[in-house]
Amino acid sequence: MTAPVIAIDGPSGAGKGTVARAVARELGFAYVDTGAMYRAVAWKARHDRVAVHDEAAVEPIAARASFDLRGGRVVIDGHDVTRAIRTPEIDVAAAAVARLPRVREALVARQRALAGQGGVVMEGRDIGTAVLPDAAVKIYLDASPEERAARRAGDPAHVLSGAALGEVADALAARDRLDRTRDASPLVEAPDAVRVDTTGVPVDAVIARVLDIVRAGIGDAAGGRASAARD
Ligand code: C5P
Repeated sequence: MTAPVIAIDGPSGAGKGTVARAVARELGFAYVDTGAMYRAVAWKARHDRVAVHDEAAVEPIAARASFDLRGGRVVIDGHDVTRAIRTPEIDVAAAAVARLPRVREALVARQRALAGQGGVVMEGRDIGTAVLPDAAVKIYLDASPEERAARRAGDPAHVLSGAALGEVADALAARDRLDRTRDASPLVEAPDAVRVDTTGVPVDAVIARVLDIVRAGIGDAAGGRASAARD
């Protein structure tokens, strides 16, 4: 019996990273940040002087680059890009490479392989809808655009010095629009996801709520398998 997989999706600034990491730690599961993979591919494309819209040139990076996502670090082809991928430039470049269907296909295959043994909390935009449609538990985290922008503005790595909240909000809204309107796996809520609105909710309370949902869902999944085995 493979251990369950948990899918956490939602827009930028909804708190997915913090929540998914905490849930994985609590359950003793691996944590996979799929956004970091799109960001790393975008970083590598720029590093290799490849245009981020050039599907034929970016696809081989997504298909063949080596990724090491252990211990909270992001390493692509031996380059530790943990910090370098958290910039406004890479925000834009990652959303651009994420629109390319062949890049998504390549990364989705690798993400499925990472989840193969189960015991994984995977976070992104299309995990419950496209990458792991059979996930034991699917969570869709959301928050108001104002709150998501305020959270991003409070993250020093993400804001150009002196950027006003309005600019952060505009950039976030533009990226959201790209993620929601692209043809290939747009950001949508899976019909069987549990929606958690984090607006005005302290992060510890969000983590506790998500853990409750996950534990209930895993219990059901385990019970379902047990009864199937008996039949
Ligand atoms: O989550 P994060 O902001 O790090 O993701 C960076 C970009 O990667 C997103 O704006 C989105 O365009 C893309 N992405 C995606 N599918 C995922 C994860 C991220 O398209 N599963």
